Amino acid sequence: MRKPFVVANWKMHKNVAESVAFINQIKDQLPAKEEVEVGIAGTTLALHAMAAAADQTDIQIVAQNAFTEFEGAYTGEISPKALADSGVDYVLLGHIERRTMFNENNTMVNKKVVATLQAGMTPIICTDETMMQEEHGGSIHYVFAQLKDVLCDVSFDQIKNIIISYEPSWAVGAGQFANPLLAEEGCRQIRQTIADRYSYEVADKIRILYGGSVNPDNIAELMSKRDIDGVLIGRASLDADNFVSMVKTV
Ligand code: PGA
Repeated sequence: MRKPFVVANWKMHKNVAESVAFINQIKDQLPAKEEVEVGIAGTTLALHAMAAAADQTDIQIVAQNAFTEFEGAYTGEISPKALADSGVDYVLLGHIERRTMFNENNTMVNKKVVATLQAGMTPIICTDETMMQEEHGGSIHYVFAQLKDVLCDVSFDQIKNIIISYEPSWAVGAGQFANPLLAEEGCRQIRQTIADRYSYEVADKIRILYGGSVNPDNIAELMSKRDIDGVLIGRASLDADNFVSMVKTV
């Protein structure tokens, strides 16, 4: 049984006080941790305070990025070790916004995956596809190639500790929601890729999320799909009541 995982991706929203207030507001309203796991990806500066606020709760703290090295002359970068020391549990890596705006490529994402694992955190690897829904059949190959490169050097033991998120780029932030069948098909094919590369047993255990315009109206249908184990929610996660009601739907 794969436990559902709902992750809020706040992107560059909310200051420290707002982030902590959000956690305080939702912490007693969430379903039991046996039913669903909840993660919040706040801005880097807020993570330490968020981890402290979430200390006696089951809320997981998620970073939105981490660098490839633990320390050194890398002005402005975020050390995976510092994130782990701050109480961060998971790290989003390879998000489409980082790929398109900050030129992250597969090689860099792969190094970040390895460094994040070494620091003792769990990577949530985002895979995207850039073509439109109608061309989906052709573009899925792009996702596979991306996954192959990003998982380069990731061992059999390590893959068990990784989460993958399938996020068609045209659905992220655009309000153009991928229909649930297509979202399911993308997740199913990612699972098949993991089975081919590692094993069916691992593929059966690994959690695969869908991200891109998830909202209170479509979350239940998405989560009813066999290969969708959770969701990564951007805009619709910013409001605490909205977020709690979505978690309860899962
Ligand atoms: P969105 O963002 O829900 O606003 O489309 C999703 C994401 O960035 O993962």
